[in-house]
Amino acid sequence: MKKKKLEGLIVFGMLAALMVLCLLSGGGEEAKPLSYGEFWQMAENGGVAEVTMGDGENWHVLLGDGQKAVTPNPRAEDGKERLLRLGVTVREQGQSPVPGLMFLGLLLCGVLLLTRGRKGAAGMAKYAAVQADERIPDVTFRDVAVSPQTLQSMRDLVGFLREPERFATCGARPPKGVMLYGPPGTGKTLLARALAGEAKAPFFAMSGADFVQVYVGVGASRVRELFRKARKAGGGVIFIDEIDAIGKKRDSGNDEREQTLNALLTEMSGFSGGDKIMVVAATNRLDTLDAALLREGRFDRRIEVSLPDREERLRILQVHARNKPLAPDACLETVAAQTALFSGAQLETLLNEAAIRAARAGCQAIAMEHLQQAFFAITAGEDRPRQFSEAEKRITAYHEAGHALLTHILQPEARLTRVSIIPTSRGAAGYSMHVQPDKLLHTRQELIAMMAVALGGRLAEEMLLGKDNVTTGAANDLEKVREISRCMAEEWAMGETGDVKSDRAALEEEARRLGKDVLTRCRAGLDALAKALTARESLDGDTAARILDAQKGL
Ligand code: ADP
Ligand code: MG
Ligand code: ZN
Repeated sequence: MKKKKLEGLIVFGMLAALMVLCLLSGGGEEAKPLSYGEFWQMAENGGVAEVTMGDGENWHVLLGDGQKAVTPNPRAEDGKERLLRLGVTVREQGQSPVPGLMFLGLLLCGVLLLTRGRKGAAGMAKYAAVQADERIPDVTFRDVAVSPQTLQSMRDLVGFLREPERFATCGARPPKGVMLYGPPGTGKTLLARALAGEAKAPFFAMSGADFVQVYVGVGASRVRELFRKARKAGGGVIFIDEIDAIGKKRDSGNDEREQTLNALLTEMSGFSGGDKIMVVAATNRLDTLDAALLREGRFDRRIEVSLPDREERLRILQVHARNKPLAPDACLETVAAQTALFSGAQLETLLNEAAIRAARAGCQAIAMEHLQQAFFAITAGEDRPRQFSEAEKRITAYHEAGHALLTHILQPEARLTRVSIIPTSRGAAGYSMHVQPDKLLHTRQELIAMMAVALGGRLAEEMLLGKDNVTTGAANDLEKVREISRCMAEEWAMGETGDVKSDRAALEEEARRLGKDVLTRCRAGLDALAKALTARESLDGDTAARILDAQKGL
């Protein structure tokens, strides 16, 4: 650890010394890029004093007013003569001491990198690749298919980027940092680019992984550089992919990571609503992130990007089929139905594989058989999506329907927002989301109802399959039940006997009985909701409520 740090410092010092040398020898201010046309126009008008030509991609130009500029090297023969005729001083590279020094420096760096082994070299390569994209992306929300909630949250951000003044007038604080989280390949990067595309803002992207492989101090300076660029461009979307690489919960005191993280937080607290800058980060694992990152005023907007349900999968397939010829028998609906738990990226691969197969077979269009071959190739391949068997789907559907039904009946003041059997990134099998009204006080009866709702998944499984066949899907639910019963018995004295252990057991049993009674009474509703979930994988809250209400009278 110590040794690595020292080595890093040495290299850093050398680079710094080299930079100073270059600066001294005239690399001072930043060179202004000139198009080749502009350059000649200026030369013709006497605006160019000196041109340094070499084998590089640019000519270095000294303008009449002392400014430096670069123009693309045309690598044509007659340029020098024409310039000399115009009275411009022309130098050939090699006359100035700079390249010699640079060469020496590079040699030193090379030797050091070699002695550091391949990892260092790879780090440098990545570091160089980091600065790529900073144009306005041509993707929009039309190119991304995500859940309506996710899309709406993203749409909300566009306004902040486009017209920050409007929000500033009302004293509204624009979100500084937005955290996109969800499984790999669900379109987080794509969404961030589409956000920039929609707002007609430039996009500055970097990956967290690029920061931690380079030398001490470089990560932090890369962060500052990134923000500087964005400010210079008058704003934009700064995207930091795989932020967990720098934002992991502070562990063994990794200096480089900590410095980078601090630089990021400093930059983020430094810009005001006036800068049209929005920082978007992405992670697959929200739970591993340092709490400092998620605090108010930092990445306090969190947007979940989940695996697509059936309908979203169809839309993703349609997006990527836009530029592909489909034969009349190619049914994307069928493919969407088959591909539960596929990510957007895997669906895109599937279509591409199908196109390759079609082309290989000499067909003009992608037929159903190509889609099927591609499907089997992917499900048998290395990165295959986890298979979601029909049986598993049905159990999960009953489980989630159980939670939803009990929420609907026992907590009418809690609004169901969404019921789904597609797993979330938090690892639960599926989820029933409902908005709990905020309350300071809970009655005993409400707490029993809460436990009953949490037990609803397990109870529904039991009703479908019998006690012997219940699954591990209820692990988190049971944890929640235990927590509530412990508080009730221990802290709020809501038990009968005062003996914590037997009180808890009695409270849990009471909740269990309540849940079971309701589910038995509303079995028709449970079946109907589970059936709809098996078919459609996710339902918005209103639809789920309607399905339940239609059966309630029974
Ligand atoms: P993530 O950043 O979440 O890992 P990406 O945005 O890198 O996912 O997705 C990789 C590719 O997969 C995208 O460029 C796109 O072609 C495809 N893709 C993934 N999700 C979607 C989606 N929701 N809609 C359309 N295409 C998607
Ligand atoms: Mg990505
Ligand atoms: Zn559950």
